Amino acid sequence: MIFKRLSIALAVAALTIIACSPGNSQEDFGHFAAKGKPPSEHTKAILVAAKGELPLSDTRDFEESSKGFIAAPDSKIIMADAGHVAWDMERFNFLLEQEEFDSIHPSLVRQSKLNMKWGLYEVIPGIYQVRGFALANATFVRGKTGWIVFDPTEASESVRAAKDLLDKHVEKLPVVAVIYSHNHGDHWAGVRGVVDQADVLAGKVQIYAPRSFMQNAISEQVFAGNAMNRRLYYQYGVLLPASPYGYVGQGLSQSTAAGHTGLIPPTRVIEDDTEELTIDGVRMVFQNTPNTEAPSEMNTWLPDLKAFWAAENVTGVFHNIYTLRGTPVRDALAWSKYINEALYMFGNDAEVMFASHHWPRWGKDRIQEVLKGQRDLYANINNQVLHHANQGVTINQIHNVYKTPKSISDQWYNRGYHGSPEHNSRGVINRYLGYWDVNPATLIPLSPADSAPIYVEMMGGAAPIMAKGRELHNAGRYFEASEILDKLVHAEPGNQDAKDLLADVYEQIGYQQENPGLRNSFLAGAYELRSGIPEGATPDSMTPDIARAMTTDLFLDFLGILMDGRNADGMAFTINLVTPDNGEQFVLEMSNNTLTNIEGYQAEDADLTLTITRVGVALAMTGAKSLQDQIADGEAQVEGNVEVLGQLASTFVRFNPQFEILPGTAGPAVADDYNDFEVGEMDVHGE
Ligand SMILES: [Zn+2]
Repeated sequence: MIFKRLSIALAVAALTIIACSPGNSQEDFGHFAAKGKPPSEHTKAILVAAKGELPLSDTRDFEESSKGFIAAPDSKIIMADAGHVAWDMERFNFLLEQEEFDSIHPSLVRQSKLNMKWGLYEVIPGIYQVRGFALANATFVRGKTGWIVFDPTEASESVRAAKDLLDKHVEKLPVVAVIYSHNHGDHWAGVRGVVDQADVLAGKVQIYAPRSFMQNAISEQVFAGNAMNRRLYYQYGVLLPASPYGYVGQGLSQSTAAGHTGLIPPTRVIEDDTEELTIDGVRMVFQNTPNTEAPSEMNTWLPDLKAFWAAENVTGVFHNIYTLRGTPVRDALAWSKYINEALYMFGNDAEVMFASHHWPRWGKDRIQEVLKGQRDLYANINNQVLHHANQGVTINQIHNVYKTPKSISDQWYNRGYHGSPEHNSRGVINRYLGYWDVNPATLIPLSPADSAPIYVEMMGGAAPIMAKGRELHNAGRYFEASEILDKLVHAEPGNQDAKDLLADVYEQIGYQQENPGLRNSFLAGAYELRSGIPEGATPDSMTPDIARAMTTDLFLDFLGILMDGRNADGMAFTINLVTPDNGEQFVLEMSNNTLTNIEGYQAEDADLTLTITRVGVALAMTGAKSLQDQIADGEAQVEGNVEVLGQLASTFVRFNPQFEILPGTAGPAVADDYNDFEVGEMDVHGE
């Protein structure tokens, strides 16, 4: 905290200097929330001081992000086939209207301006990228007979629009191959926009993917899917309108396209650590990089073009080691080592490096600089966080202790536009040591709702806490204000004055963040505290393609999560499940309020044997045709005691994707509180 206080003092000093300078007014941008506040003098001062620390003389990103521009369509909006807006860059036009904003970190303003580039670019002759149509880039490599697509983005409509632009301005040719760089949805879910599954089945289009692609494409999204979807409201600011006071971009790109999603499984999986193939006349060396940015990921070296595709391993950001929406913590050391391997294998020959987000880097010196810089970034956080941990620094302190070395953070591509040093450093400790800080008081802690009333009572009730909270807020001591107001809100969820004051505190902390995930999380907290959780916005990750792609055992495991064990008192039964079309068989057993399954066995004394096609299982999974209807129509057969299916079904609950996070915020929003905006539909989040 000493660092923070010092920087506030410096920031206030800086503000007094610039207070005389004119401009930088934001009066034209009204706040979207009736209770919303502009940045305080403290926040403005912190952002001014932050600007002074930035490597502004390095403008290479602006040159690189503009290089090779060919064309852009007139409209910045892409419509979804379903009729709604899938992608809208217009709503970010405010970013281009002025240089600086006193409610957005200057580094984030810069990144969001860079991400406003929209159109078709030549990387080198034969390689083209469409950027700014989706979260991910659509990249096209010219083969002998057609286009090879690297990562068809997250939405069919986006990649189709990208291909149309390519056809119009470069050359109209069919897509002959697709390469999925990794298992995150923004890199494959749009595939049906440029590939017809019939052509894949007929062998006209090949689809390549890294080792273990399919299991990882699905598994990360299923078991904790509902919780992750809810957490997206925070990390991705789903509720926040695009505004200087709200959502300003996602760092990797401006947003996520809300279009049609699907999945066509790969026809060829790259199994070896490195593997060379010639695809439609283009030589490619694949480098599997498991457990980096994704559990299943691969870089690609195109030796004849001297071009290195860095997948999402090397982009223009410090990426997530820990993802706020909630994923298993990533391995920063493995990530660093695979970047180093790429540097040594391809870095001496590469003349261009391009990736699935952001813009390319040209020239051997620049490529080596970025590869080394990113290698050191990930190795440094891994090693130095553990260095501190080995001397007793805990998960609850490390974010206030670990600092990225200035030589690393002075490189724009190493700045925290997706990960942040704060949440990533906690992630590293979590990976190696878990959540416990070895303080017995936090080992079996009271739930917040149970601990808070004791504090509030001891502090003399709400009035003195509000007075102190206001004093801290007015002094710009926002983290301290949050500490005590959070207790009051947990003790008194109905105390709207307390929630409003805490919202004001979160809002200022949000404005101060460079990292969009942190900004969005604080601003989302402010939003929900002021007006509750609006209805609408229900992300659904179980599309028919995904249901088909999900392995049966993964689905059965998920049933064990979907059932509420408290509804299964006394239940005991065994079901044999047979899917003859793919030759699978399972035993499901309900015992001790728990549902388990085992593949490859059948129980001799099963209460029920259910025979159903694998497709039928997928239909039941998506709700397209219930199990009961399939049995009634003779598409599924049952033998034995059918009643156990009813017993099983009676244990299932429907997860609510809008569960309460902050106390006293459940229920619909007060409609008048917000000026007109629409909650985005967000289906695919892969980062
Ligand atoms: Zn991505």
